[in-house]
Amino acid sequence: MCRWRQVCFVFQKCGCAIQQPDEEVLCDSPNCKFSPFHPKSCQLPACRKTCTQQRGYPQQHTVTVNAVCPNHGG
Ligand SMILES: [Zn+2]
Ligand SMILES: [Zn+2]
Ligand SMILES: [Zn+2]
Repeated sequence: MCRWRQVCFVFQKCGCAIQQPDEEVLCDSPNCKFSPFHPKSCQLPACRKTCTQQRGYPQQHTVTVNAVCPNHGG
Protein backbone atom coordinates (compact mmCIF):
# COMPACT_ATOMS: atom_id res chain seq x y z
CA MET A 1 0.00 0.00 0.00
CA CYS A 2 1.30 3.44 -0.85
CA ARG A 3 1.95 5.97 1.84
CA TRP A 4 3.64 9.26 2.57
CA ARG A 5 7.04 9.38 4.13
CA GLN A 6 7.58 12.30 6.47
CA VAL A 7 11.14 13.04 7.46
CA CYS A 8 12.02 15.42 10.24
CA PHE A 9 15.60 16.54 10.90
CA VAL A 10 16.39 17.40 14.50
CA PHE A 11 19.51 19.52 14.91
CA GLN A 12 21.02 18.79 18.28
CA LYS A 13 23.25 21.85 18.52
CA CYS A 14 20.41 24.37 18.32
CA GLY A 15 17.40 22.21 19.09
CA CYS A 16 15.52 23.04 15.89
CA ALA A 17 13.39 20.46 14.13
CA ILE A 18 12.90 20.94 10.39
CA GLN A 19 10.17 18.99 8.65
CA GLN A 20 11.02 17.94 5.10
CA PRO A 21 8.43 17.94 2.30
CA ASP A 22 6.38 14.75 2.27
CA GLU A 23 7.61 12.08 -0.12
CA GLU A 24 5.30 9.59 -1.72
CA VAL A 25 6.35 5.98 -1.25
CA LEU A 26 4.77 3.81 -3.92
CA CYS A 27 4.06 0.11 -3.61
CA ASP A 28 4.09 -2.40 -6.45
CA SER A 29 0.65 -3.84 -5.90
CA PRO A 30 -1.78 -3.97 -8.85
CA ASN A 31 -4.55 -3.82 -6.24
CA CYS A 32 -3.64 -0.39 -4.99
CA LYS A 33 -5.14 2.63 -6.75
CA PHE A 34 -1.98 4.71 -6.22
CA SER A 35 0.51 2.07 -7.39
CA PRO A 36 2.34 2.44 -10.72
CA PHE A 37 1.32 -1.21 -11.31
CA HIS A 38 -2.36 -0.50 -10.95
CA PRO A 39 -3.91 -1.21 -14.37
CA LYS A 40 -5.31 1.82 -16.17
CA SER A 41 -8.27 -0.32 -17.18
CA CYS A 42 -9.30 -0.71 -13.54
CA GLN A 43 -11.77 2.11 -13.02
CA LEU A 44 -14.41 3.00 -10.49
CA PRO A 45 -16.77 1.58 -9.40
CA ALA A 46 -15.16 -1.85 -9.88
CA CYS A 47 -11.84 -0.53 -8.61
CA ARG A 48 -13.42 0.29 -5.28
CA LYS A 49 -14.23 -3.39 -4.76
CA THR A 50 -10.85 -4.81 -5.72
CA CYS A 51 -8.32 -2.13 -4.90
CA THR A 52 -7.09 -0.13 -1.98
CA GLN A 53 -8.51 3.39 -2.22
CA GLN A 54 -6.51 4.99 0.55
CA ARG A 55 -2.89 5.49 1.35
CA GLY A 56 -1.47 3.77 4.38
CA TYR A 57 -0.56 5.48 7.59
CA PRO A 58 2.40 7.82 6.98
CA GLN A 59 5.87 6.60 7.81
CA GLN A 60 7.47 9.11 10.13
CA HIS A 61 11.23 9.28 10.41
CA THR A 62 13.17 11.48 12.75
CA VAL A 63 16.80 11.97 11.82
CA THR A 64 18.99 13.43 14.53
CA VAL A 65 21.88 15.52 13.25
CA ASN A 66 24.74 16.54 15.53
CA ALA A 67 24.95 20.01 13.98
CA VAL A 68 23.35 23.46 13.87
CA CYS A 69 20.43 23.91 11.50
CA PRO A 70 20.75 26.03 8.30
CA ASN A 71 18.74 28.82 9.95
CA HIS A 72 21.32 29.08 12.70
CA GLY A 73 24.37 29.06 10.48
CA GLY A 74 24.84 25.31 10.07
ZN1 LIG B 1 0.04 1.24 -3.05
ZN1 LIG C 1 -8.28 -0.61 -9.20
ZN1 LIG D 1 18.34 26.05 14.61
